[in-house]
Amino acid sequence: MTFRTLRVRPRRAAVFSLHTSPLEQPGTGDAGGMNVYIAQTAKRLAEHGTEVEIFTRATSSDVPPTAELAPGVLVRNVVAGPFEGLDKHELPSQLCAFAAGALRVEARHEPGHYDLVHSHYWLSGQVGWLARERWGVPLVHTAHTLAKVKNASLAADDSPEPRARIVGEEQVVDEADRLVANTSVEAADLIDRYGADPDAVRTVPPGVDLDLFSPGDTAAARRELDLPQDAVVLAFVGRIQPLKAPDVLLRATAELLHRHPELRERLVVPVVGGPSGSGLERPRALHELAAELGITDVVRFLPPRTGADLRAVYRAADLVAVPSYNESFGLVALEAQACGTPVVAAAVGGLPIAVEDGVSGLLVDGHRTGQWADALSSLLVRSGLRERLAAGSARHAAGFSWDRTTEALLDAYAGARKAFHAQRRQEVTA
Ligand code: UDP
Repeated sequence: MTFRTLRVRPRRAAVFSLHTSPLEQPGTGDAGGMNVYIAQTAKRLAEHGTEVEIFTRATSSDVPPTAELAPGVLVRNVVAGPFEGLDKHELPSQLCAFAAGALRVEARHEPGHYDLVHSHYWLSGQVGWLARERWGVPLVHTAHTLAKVKNASLAADDSPEPRARIVGEEQVVDEADRLVANTSVEAADLIDRYGADPDAVRTVPPGVDLDLFSPGDTAAARRELDLPQDAVVLAFVGRIQPLKAPDVLLRATAELLHRHPELRERLVVPVVGGPSGSGLERPRALHELAAELGITDVVRFLPPRTGADLRAVYRAADLVAVPSYNESFGLVALEAQACGTPVVAAAVGGLPIAVEDGVSGLLVDGHRTGQWADALSSLLVRSGLRERLAAGSARHAAGFSWDRTTEALLDAYAGARKAFHAQRRQEVTA
């Protein structure tokens, strides 16, 4: 794709991803869609002339100070606090150390080394705020998730986000020159719940790697995963944590089997991903639930996977379930649809944008077992519905791409520059 040449592009952007590295395997621990987002957009920014340096916290003594993610994309592993054993909730204690590490890197270069900062998640936003002041460059911030939104839709056994995070988010919203929202829903949340200036908010839909995730041979994918060809496959892909609600899928599966006992021989529910968030406190909880529900014979727990191995899961599935209590967008939903697999998703957050109800999948308004069993069985039992939604899935996903996301990010960067310089001029004349 040729990007518009009139726009002044940053030569070099500092991207802050404090709490998780784009080099980590997504789908477990703190690594998820944000990691994929940062890696995919950084590669494309670099291809189009903006070098990217991603600052992240070193989580092991083995990692080198820098690593190349792709040509023009450097990951800087900043030492801030102990390498291992620091929980995400303890990271605010390391903001100063992380900021000092980033400032030290910049000070080794000529002034003006970076001409823009893009921070991801509120912790990075705090450091981005400081870098903006110190380096005299615009700050673009993407929240990815917002504590006020998360706290409004918690799973029953999840703990609320602390007030310190809310305050920290509010500060970053006030200080950033541009706020990038994944969807219009998130944009409205930034404005209505956090008092963001509507002129500072830009909606930039995330993308999907359409070269990797494409419709393909279901039979081959099933062979790869050692699944019977006549299996009925309902998959879950993502971090195993209460917010993602994999338990809702397991309960609905048990109900489905109760209603259609004849499915028992053929039903397979792959659950792909590793423990994360408050799911780490009881990593075996989902296994225990499967046992309680009497469905250990149909559920297959699989470790996180990537690339073609992940694509095989999407291609092998009859449907992918995304029952989350909250989801700022839901990349898994898009990836599954790009592989021609319909998605049954909760109608929360960005999922009604990621999934087109009745066209590329089904949206469920709530998390009750009966509702979810109804949605799953309608897809499996109603003649022709699954095939129609499968065709709609790939079409819907084709409307998203990382190239488009990157193009829109460059527009947001240009806007941030303008806003930043206008503010500086005002400060000088005041
Ligand atoms: N993912 C992965 N391997 C896995 C499970 C998930 O690479 O085994 C990736 C998945 O492809 C997606 C991301 O993790 O790109 C999850 O993003 P999503 O927006 O669905 O959820 P998040 O983790 O950001 O809450």
